[in-house]
Amino acid sequence: MDKRQSTELLFEMSHSGRRTHRLPACDVPMPGASKLLPANALAAEPPPLPEVGEIDLIRHFVNLSGRNMSIDTNFYPLGSCTMKYNPKRHERLSSLPGLADLHPLQSDESCQGMLELLWQTQNILAEIAGLEEVSLQPAAGAHGELTSLLVASAYFRDRKEQRTRVLIPDSAHGTNPASAAIAGFEAVSIKSNARGLVDLEDLRGKLDERAAVFMITNPNTLGLFDDQIAVITEIVHGQGALVYLDGANMNAILGITRPGDFGVDMMHYNVHKTFTGPHGAGGPGAGPIAVRSQLAPYLPVPVVVKENDAYRLDYDRPKTIGRVRSFFGNIGILLRGYLYIRTLGPRGLREVSENAVLNANYLLALVKDAYDVPYGPRCMHEFVASARNLRRERKISAMDIGKRLLDFSYHAPTVYFPLVVPEAIMIEPSETESKETLDGFADALLRIREEDADFLHNAPHTLGISRPDEVKAAKEPLLRWRPQQA
Ligand SMILES: *Cc1c(COP(=O)(O)O)cnc(C)c1O
Repeated sequence: MDKRQSTELLFEMSHSGRRTHRLPACDVPMPGASKLLPANALAAEPPPLPEVGEIDLIRHFVNLSGRNMSIDTNFYPLGSCTMKYNPKRHERLSSLPGLADLHPLQSDESCQGMLELLWQTQNILAEIAGLEEVSLQPAAGAHGELTSLLVASAYFRDRKEQRTRVLIPDSAHGTNPASAAIAGFEAVSIKSNARGLVDLEDLRGKLDERAAVFMITNPNTLGLFDDQIAVITEIVHGQGALVYLDGANMNAILGITRPGDFGVDMMHYNVHKTFTGPHGAGGPGAGPIAVRSQLAPYLPVPVVVKENDAYRLDYDRPKTIGRVRSFFGNIGILLRGYLYIRTLGPRGLREVSENAVLNANYLLALVKDAYDVPYGPRCMHEFVASARNLRRERKISAMDIGKRLLDFSYHAPTVYFPLVVPEAIMIEPSETESKETLDGFADALLRIREEDADFLHNAPHTLGISRPDEVKAAKEPLLRWRPQQA
């Protein structure tokens, strides 16, 4: 087998005594671990760490890294996730020692530069949102949802209002009802209408004095901007409830419209999506939230403030919900977002969204005759095709198409989400892809559509593994090396 395809573990390559470095003899007294640690903290034997030479170690990890799928290696049209190019200039700048080597326990006086960047980031995000105040703390979008709902909960508690429900459209991301439940609310589902937008009748019917928050994703996960938004915010506010925006789709509207202007009271950003934090494989992210001024007293502490030309972390907010993240959140991702926004400027940000929408519509036009697109004919920054007809007529599923795309070196689109589209194939090209890339991807989709069903059921055909048991892989990951039985 090609060594690069090898799944050999470091433990299996181990030979007793091999080293990458040999340390010189210690020239200070060594009391021994038993003198430094309590007995119950000491293992009976040293851990069975692998012993390998440096060149084998390097090859192992370099070859493994070559097996990664990433935005730097392949087109990655993962709907709802905004997998756009992460500019390398921002990687370099955010790694400058003055930024990357700060210690989170340093005094405010000793890291004024960083605090200024964070202060500016708060202001910029407030401006893009059209809202007054920002907390940078939440670690990702879902965490921003939870934090905002805790803020809403504190706000209503303060007003002595008993509101127990959070209303959520059925096209929403699964994190929305999950965040509502974790924040102690009952999640109530609102139907979509025939256009894929919020069903106003259903919303009106379920909206009463028990409603705390209506969570909306706009544009929604079908890639559609809900043009009823002014009416929606009016009727939600009419019942004394708040409107929350899931901002995962901000890539479609930057500089074109602002959530605060269309009636939203609070929102999160996914900095790793919209503002190019490299993401995938679970993190890290940043999910700052923006809120209207009446909600600001409840934001997590600390917040960065500027006083007499100096910056400091402000903990003095008596009504705060407290801290939601150790130290100050995922600053490395926030910094990349700041750099991206400053590189582009206001005009550039607007162009991002214009081009994201253009690219998605171009791709939609190329594939819409071959694949069914139930909610069209136009979209915002992404669209959802469906394999429902292919499934009915030829037993070809969204899963088969996603798997077969891997043979063409594309990352698969998001499949089976949103739930309102059967056999969903959700495609988001982002603004950073060229016309040639989009043409190539559309060609692959058109070609796959003509392929034999049995052939597709067994795809991919060119990779090291084809169809692993995904549930088992997720539920029982093999993370620990076990010595082989003799
Ligand atoms: C990605 C996403 C989320 C969750 O955000 P994370 O940053 O992954 O926690 C929520 N809603 C929508 C629509 C998303 O696409």
